Amino acid sequence: MRGLITILLMISCTVFCQTGDQYESVRNRMVDDQIAGRGISDQATLMAMRKVPRHLFVPASYVKEAYSDRPLPIGYSQTISQPFIVAYMTELSRPAKGKKALEIGTGSGYQAAVLAEIVDTVYTIEIVPELAKEAAARLKVLGYQNIVAKYGDGYKGWPGHGPFDIIIVTAAADHIPQPLKDQLAEGGRLVMPVGNPATVQELILLIKKKGRITEQRLEHVFFVPLKRLK
Ligand code: SAH
Repeated sequence: MRGLITILLMISCTVFCQTGDQYESVRNRMVDDQIAGRGISDQATLMAMRKVPRHLFVPASYVKEAYSDRPLPIGYSQTISQPFIVAYMTELSRPAKGKKALEIGTGSGYQAAVLAEIVDTVYTIEIVPELAKEAAARLKVLGYQNIVAKYGDGYKGWPGHGPFDIIIVTAAADHIPQPLKDQLAEGGRLVMPVGNPATVQELILLIKKKGRITEQRLEHVFFVPLKRLK
């Protein structure tokens, strides 16, 4: 009897484990070619990018392009970032177990999921109510119990839950909001595109050490604008 059960379990695994994620090999190729191949070396980041099913974060009409080397529309004039940019911002934030992260601009929820594979808790805020609702539902179905998502204006951060070891802003503005700098923990890192939201921006990395903030300017990037609630 026990043998029969073992065989049945093996069969169901061959059926379900393989068909469970038919995009696994495409996803691994994406990581090898677009991410590791372009210099991302943080093992935790690479592991997370290999794991999160990006095709479940894009609209049905874009599933086939989910692993391609570009941003994709997610509705409401917003986009899910190019995989490399997600990996790059994740690596810059130095994610690790034990850390607490804040993301401004939940969008599809993909960046939040990538962070949540590594850090303890991710707080994420989205200003488009429909996207906030969709992303929260998606993250729940996918079983991300360590992501706390809400609708709102992320400019002010999430004061009740700070300070944060990591703050990632996935929308562009001409300056870094002061409340986000204030909510950065000692030793914390903030990554945000800063520049002209209508054209090109620079990715900025802020690091807080002994209460003082240092700034590094990195790659040129294109993000949708950070909006404000009136
Ligand atoms: N990180 C997302 C991509 C985000 S695109 C992902 O992984 O899919 C940028 C998002 O920021 C958009 O969804 C936009 O609506 C949102 N956004 C813009 N301004 C915001 C603000 N002030 N607060 C919170 N979200 C904002």
